[in-house]
Amino acid sequence: AKASGRQSIRFFDPTMQEAVSTRLQLEEDIRRGLQGVEFIPYLQPQLNAAGQLTGAEVLARWQHPERGLLAPGYFIEVAEQAELIEQIDLQMLRQASAQLAVWQGAPATASLCLAVNLSARLLYQPDFIETLLQFLSESGADPRFLKLELTETMLLDDMSAAIACMRELREQGIRFSIDDFGTGYSSLAYLQKLPLDQLKIDQSFVRELPENDGSAAIIRAICALAGSLQLEVIAEGVETEQQHATLLQLGCEHFQGYLFGRPMPLAEFEQLLVTRGVA
Ligand code: C2E
Ligand code: CA
Ligand code: CA
Ligand code: CA
Repeated sequence: AKASGRQSIRFFDPTMQEAVSTRLQLEEDIRRGLQGVEFIPYLQPQLNAAGQLTGAEVLARWQHPERGLLAPGYFIEVAEQAELIEQIDLQMLRQASAQLAVWQGAPATASLCLAVNLSARLLYQPDFIETLLQFLSESGADPRFLKLELTETMLLDDMSAAIACMRELREQGIRFSIDDFGTGYSSLAYLQKLPLDQLKIDQSFVRELPENDGSAAIIRAICALAGSLQLEVIAEGVETEQQHATLLQLGCEHFQGYLFGRPMPLAEFEQLLVTRGVA
């Protein structure tokens, strides 16, 4: 490979060459990390209007043996390009299923939900449904407490295939949320076709509260739309009391953000369950 590569290397500048090998190293490192189950769920609390915990969003973290704890910004892009993100998602789903089963074993925590982010391609993989249902049945978790977060753009790729997959999972009780809602450019007609349970207002709108009237108007409209379609609505990226109060006024009833807690390890989340109380 070196001999054939020599000629082409001349056309690259050295920093570009370096970037390529760094990328390949990271890719190899992700593969290694997947083998050792170094990708672990961090949990960010989700609350209702009464301030009680309803569950958490699962956000992947890489517990790297040398580099320490790494956020998705460090690995998601390369994992996506190398088609490894699906495996990270599956590890999150397996660990989330196991955790739900544990919580469901005790009355005080039985109502907690976990929301897991799903990457686009996974939804279209033929064996995905079977794999996910197997995680749930192996652990003994009730599927009704698992929510899958999808983005609008990933659904539009092949809408009918997405709908078929979602329907099948929803029949088993799994729920669906549209992540980053309001940031896509598609028409809203798809909302009627998709089997959905929740819209998640993107943090870019929340960030502009309370001053920005435009963001407030958009959030109000999303809440009204959700209401008439009988969907739950949750706001993410809630950082201040003012934002929280404004969101309540605008009709939002579920919240997630640094104001209530950053993504945290399971043990820390379980502490919060005690102090905050479960819905
Ligand atoms: P996302 O799904 O939109 O997740 C929300 C991001 O906003 C998270 O970043 C979270 O830590 C951050 N966040 C939460 N509350 C606040 C807040 O109050 N203020 C601000 N400024 N930020 C807040 P994180 O954990 O770095 O994740 C980034 C993205 O990586 C996620 O965006 C999601 O798209 C992706 N991701 C994370 N875990 C997974 C996973 O297991 N699978 C897949 N496919 N994607 C994942
Ligand atoms: Ca999300
Ligand atoms: Ca989001
Ligand atoms: Ca986002």
